[in-house]
Amino acid sequence: MRALEYVRAADAAEAVELVSGDPRAAFLAGGTTQLDLMKDGVLNPGLLVDITRLPLRGIEPQGEVLQVGALVTMEELAADPVLAQRAPVVREALLAGASTQLRNMATIGGNLLQRPRCRYFRDPAVPRCNKREPGSGCAAVDGTARMHAILGVSERCIAVHASDLAVALVALDAVVQVQGLSGRREVPLTEFYRTAAQSPESENVLAHGELITGVEVPLPPAGTPSGYLKVRDRASYEFALTSAAVALVVSGGVIRHARVGLGGVASAPWRARDAERELRDAPATLDTFRRAAARAVEGAWTVPGTAFKVELAQRTLVRALRTVAGVAA
Ligand SMILES: Cc1cc2nc3c(=O)[nH]c(=O)nc-3n(C[C@H](O)[C@H](O)[C@H](O)COP(=O)(O)OP(=O)(O)OC[C@H]3O[C@@H](n4cnc5c(N)ncnc54)[C@H](O)[C@@H]3O)c2cc1C
Ligand code: SF4
Repeated sequence: MRALEYVRAADAAEAVELVSGDPRAAFLAGGTTQLDLMKDGVLNPGLLVDITRLPLRGIEPQGEVLQVGALVTMEELAADPVLAQRAPVVREALLAGASTQLRNMATIGGNLLQRPRCRYFRDPAVPRCNKREPGSGCAAVDGTARMHAILGVSERCIAVHASDLAVALVALDAVVQVQGLSGRREVPLTEFYRTAAQSPESENVLAHGELITGVEVPLPPAGTPSGYLKVRDRASYEFALTSAAVALVVSGGVIRHARVGLGGVASAPWRARDAERELRDAPATLDTFRRAAARAVEGAWTVPGTAFKVELAQRTLVRALRTVAGVAA
């Protein structure tokens, strides 16, 4: 049995102080990732700081931005009428994730910080995992890697980033609000994550003890069609093999505005900027979509288990673009 201290934080400053002051401390929100990893013996915090009583539960439209508290649950955000109307891509990504029961517990902050679903990372009996034990190697590279990544990876780690929500938010240029010992800061989601190629050890730019307090979601202009397509091994309750978040404005048959995020294929929620450049000012046709999809997977690094994702990711993106633009096959 391991000793574990539990404290319920009264306010954000106390939560930050408690976790910052103890290298073995961790925040606890909905617990759907944190407690799983503790039960499996992957994480062994000495102190859990429960943040669920903090006043971070609001969803508020502020002009052209939706301000979302870090403790809003996935289900609450999915039910928000402003989000549903202005950014269906985010709603669809939320509802494609986990199960209703989990979404009622799981928070937005926790979702953005969920750890990889790599089976080797989640099994402490496996000796090689650079995320668990920096420098020990990567068991997935020559193991079973069907669920792993092809972008932003290297032989040091090929773990996929698992959040569907983050893929939609990265496409919309969302901003993460953070509180630390030295004050508050805002980090664009596109700069928030580190790829496994950059650093297998740390998946984001947060310092230990920094608390996500909220997320600012810029709302696309009213009427902007958007959508999320998730391809997976079964219809529900499964992580993405590949996914695509798309927002497009097409007028006169020409694409005026394009946003593309990819999931299931990268070690961080992936903004496909090369694909966006290919789409912008081009005719909204199948040919354009195929060219954009090819650009999106340029630079893919595969192992035998993940090679199929190069083709699948392109097909996923083409179908998502066709659906959002209303272009027939
Ligand atoms: C069976 C299963 C299926 C799932 N399927 C999907 C899926 O298909 N798609 C998907 O996107 N997700 C899926 N998930 C993941 C789920 O969405 C996340 O577990 C959940 O969103 C995490 O939120 P939480 O509040 O429970 O976080 P917790 O488990 O409480 O915390 C997760 C991590 O974030 C840290 N943390 C939490 N909140 C904050 C904060 N505000 N500031 C700083 N650190 C914080 C914690 O210390 C911990 O390290 C699935 C989970 C399970 C168990
Ligand atoms: S893919 Fe990453 S998380 Fe999985 S075993 Fe390799 S180093 Fe660990």
